Amino acid sequence: MILGHFLVISLALNAGFLYRDYCKGKHHYQEFFSFKNECKNASLTLLETSPPPFSSSSSSSKAFDGIINLDHGDPTMYERYWQQMGDKTTVVINGWQFISYFSDVRKVCWFLEPEFANSIIRLHKLVGNAITEDRYIVVGTGSTQLFQAVLYAVSPPNASEPISVVSAAPFYSSYPLITDFLKSGLHKWAGDAYTFNKDEPYIELVTSPNNPDGFPRQAVVNQNQGILIHDFAYYWPQYIPISSPADHDIMLFTVSKSTGHAGTRIGWALVKDKEIAKKMTEFIVLSTIGVSKDSQIRAAKILQVVSDSHQYKGNFKESKAFFEDSYDHMARRWKQLRDAVNVSKLFSLPDFTSGSCTFSGRTFGSQPAFAWLKCEGEIDDCESFLHGHKILTRGGKHFGGSEKYVRISMLPRDETFDQFIERLSSISSS
Ligand code: PMP
Repeated sequence: MILGHFLVISLALNAGFLYRDYCKGKHHYQEFFSFKNECKNASLTLLETSPPPFSSSSSSSKAFDGIINLDHGDPTMYERYWQQMGDKTTVVINGWQFISYFSDVRKVCWFLEPEFANSIIRLHKLVGNAITEDRYIVVGTGSTQLFQAVLYAVSPPNASEPISVVSAAPFYSSYPLITDFLKSGLHKWAGDAYTFNKDEPYIELVTSPNNPDGFPRQAVVNQNQGILIHDFAYYWPQYIPISSPADHDIMLFTVSKSTGHAGTRIGWALVKDKEIAKKMTEFIVLSTIGVSKDSQIRAAKILQVVSDSHQYKGNFKESKAFFEDSYDHMARRWKQLRDAVNVSKLFSLPDFTSGSCTFSGRTFGSQPAFAWLKCEGEIDDCESFLHGHKILTRGGKHFGGSEKYVRISMLPRDETFDQFIERLSSISSS
């Protein structure tokens, strides 16, 4: 009992020190989650940034003047849809269930829950965004763990030098951090794929559509010694027209940005090669001895309900099918943002060519989960400029790009997004 208390106190103290160290900027996580901004404004952040979920917009006519945090891609936009779905996604897990480490020992990935595997295959078939035939499915604690597992699996184990890992700039800001954080002898971050010209094996990360700029992508290093990893976190029909089922050797997906369940921490990889799937499984076993079954069951339920909402519309009379609702939501937000940017001479946004979506039958231009906003004219440091207006974003240099750009999350709750649009419009006109 006493020992227990000591443990709790010691934990609390450690958390306190950790927080203090974050605020002193003693570690590099600030690039990951931008604690830098949060600490600088810690008291303001706690008091002013977070309107309670689902509160109706401010009842007073006075504009919100607190901090608006659009730095992380936290997908809380999706809360409202799932709240409307009521009990349809409720999962009950009894105390006796999912006690074992094992799920299906006949499978390469023996901790993959069959129910989750089936829901993945069903959803990909419905959406038509990836081939699942003749693939091994590997589940991970988010696609973040799968990314690490793939690096481990495809890096040559006995090479004299770590293999180079590249991605075309602007690239997802976590790739360099994750690749190098354990200072592995297996792999090393080698930067922008456009400038990679070494005549040696390499790993290229292809993120399509891309985080941060939203464009569809293909591999850019023009050599045949490359191992390609396709990150399809955003290849879903609310963000980009589905052109054809993706058919690559290693493809990563996540519930974080497809359904918005980032907190469930579940991702999956579709892998052609059995040996690679085995080594990825080995990585996950050595790091976490599998992946939470509770989370897999929850993710399975969510994916099933997404498919049901399209295939059995009659049972979902009170709300739209998932990708229709989320497509409309993104379309509204992008229109609001473009309208606000168009009236100003201060900012610009990427233009996307329209394409036809095999899933919805619509023709539309991308409406990505992030806006890659450029500050025009004299403003050289766009992140600081917006910070001055109490809008927290992530500056272009974190993505291997220019400081004239920032990445802005398009996935916050409605209240925050509306406040952002109001704030941006007031900067333009002042
Ligand atoms: N890849 C990309 C391109 C992402 O944007 C993200 C989330 N920001 C991830 C992977 C990680 O997703 P997860 O939450 O599944 O770890």
